[in-house]
Amino acid sequence: MGRIVGIDLGTTNSCVAVIEAGAPVVIPNSEGARTTPSVVAYRGDAERLVGQVARRQAAQNAENTVSTVKRLMGRRVDSPESIKQSAHVPYRIVDNGSGDAWIEVHGHAMSPPEVSAAVLSTMKSIAEAYLGEEVTEAVITVPAYFDDSQRQATKDAGRIAGLDVRRIINEPTAAALAYGLDKGVDNERIVVYDLGGGTFDVSILEIRGGVFRVVSTSGDTFLGGEDFDQKIVDLLADEFNLEHGIDLRADRSALQRLRDAAERAKHELSSSLETEVNLPFIAATPDGPQHLLRTFKRGEYERLVADLVERTVRPCQQALQDARLTIGEIHQVILVGGMTRMPAVQRKVQEFFQRAPHKGVSPDEVVAIGAAVQGASLSGDLDQVLLLDVTPLSLGVETGGGVMTAVIERNTTIPARQAMMFTTSLDNQTFVPVKVLQGEREMAADNRMLMEFELAGIPAAPRGVPKIEVSFDIDANGILSVTAKDLATGKKKDVQIVAGSGLTEEEVARLVVEAEQSKSDDSTRRELAEARNAAEALLYTSETALTEYAELLPEDLRASLADSVTLLRQALDSNAPIATVRTLHGSLEASAYRIAEALYGG
Ligand code: AMP
Repeated sequence: MGRIVGIDLGTTNSCVAVIEAGAPVVIPNSEGARTTPSVVAYRGDAERLVGQVARRQAAQNAENTVSTVKRLMGRRVDSPESIKQSAHVPYRIVDNGSGDAWIEVHGHAMSPPEVSAAVLSTMKSIAEAYLGEEVTEAVITVPAYFDDSQRQATKDAGRIAGLDVRRIINEPTAAALAYGLDKGVDNERIVVYDLGGGTFDVSILEIRGGVFRVVSTSGDTFLGGEDFDQKIVDLLADEFNLEHGIDLRADRSALQRLRDAAERAKHELSSSLETEVNLPFIAATPDGPQHLLRTFKRGEYERLVADLVERTVRPCQQALQDARLTIGEIHQVILVGGMTRMPAVQRKVQEFFQRAPHKGVSPDEVVAIGAAVQGASLSGDLDQVLLLDVTPLSLGVETGGGVMTAVIERNTTIPARQAMMFTTSLDNQTFVPVKVLQGEREMAADNRMLMEFELAGIPAAPRGVPKIEVSFDIDANGILSVTAKDLATGKKKDVQIVAGSGLTEEEVARLVVEAEQSKSDDSTRRELAEARNAAEALLYTSETALTEYAELLPEDLRASLADSVTLLRQALDSNAPIATVRTLHGSLEASAYRIAEALYGG
């Protein structure tokens, strides 16, 4: 069996790790960086860039550069998350026709899993280059808060990238796995405080006898590093507007530069007490080009974002309360996510949990390492670790009066199976509609509807008599299957919730093929480019030889050389296919050898 790599598919950055000889290795990309920006850029004629290269060209190609796509995974276009994302990113978010949020670049709509697949495919290549073997299996992490559609979308992204996603695990669980690996930790209750680029998650886990059990999770899907960046962006843009009467936020490329500068300033303020934002030629006015130069002190920045840091406290209280634990019963706090490098965040964690957070594993790598631990455990390279995760949100069905009735409560350990008995509400009702919902709100309409189906063929009977058993099955990936069964007739309807990612089975299959094809297109393009380069080089030396040694060469050789040069030159000019270029290259090469023979009298 090949190696199963662990991939942290992050909102802003992704990371891939593997277990080698029992120890975790974070695999650096071709530029030597241990994390790769989750940024995908599309440029004219189907050229696609991923990672740092995509990020670097974002300011010049803002509309076609997709960042933070994770926030759109499995989302509806009218969800608050999508609306917020629309306001924050320069690319277009569109309705795919059935209400799912898709992304439009160069007039072509793409699903979020398709874009994520580009990132995953890059992470796969990074691992392959390091391991020297094909990588086909992975464990991918998702925020604990991801609902069924979002998990499904992540799985689809893996498949499109050519990966068999062996397991989807929650990021905090992965962090705890990584933490537990090198410590041989046992009998501990740990808190994972994860403040990343897009979301905040806090989870409490219990490790006992090699079993990792998530006892509760909470968080805020609207809070992440980008909100911190945005505070700086807004402040700078407001000040600039006041001074020059120009709103930099209205200019996509200025906004992108402003965002990059804000993020850089934020990073620097984690290690320095002061930083400078310097953006020359950010706008033009009748008075000429305008520059933005501003010094930031750490204290000023901390005051600016104090409310954001404070917002992480409530979910921490909630997680403790759900776990029925007090702060004194917590043994360790692990920090995850780049934002936890910020000193004010660390102080807040320390103040709340009354203990210094654990500083052993890098907050950007700990999740990928945990995923690799799970991967190695699945492939038998490491002792089996048993992971008992919980459902982040309640799952249920709509019942009389539009009420949500939970079948599986949130924070239930998975895999889980739960059944509930329902009946008809009208006399002689021969079918029951089943609406499957996920969420914590009382009314069905306020929760997310995962799917709707009908169980038909129920024998006519007075209302309340038929017994319909609806059972929910959540697998280890947190993916749900629902079965409705009429106990009288044994008639059954099984549905796997697949609608979630907005992609049908056929669409996923088509995208898998396209991704494979574009991979071979890419390599064909590369081979052609290489053949053309080699031909150019040979043409150059042959043409030089023809002019420099003309008198020394016999007439027939000169003529055949000139012919070969002309033919190859024509082939290049007319963009001839690779086979033609190679053949003509071969015959020119043969003539060229004869030059040496003629010159050296061989
Ligand atoms: P993640 O989703 O874990 O990759 O988190 C990325 C977020 O962490 C982004 O918003 C980054 O800007 C932020 N981040 C990374 N490094 C630092 C740092 N040194 N100080 C503050 N924030 C950081």
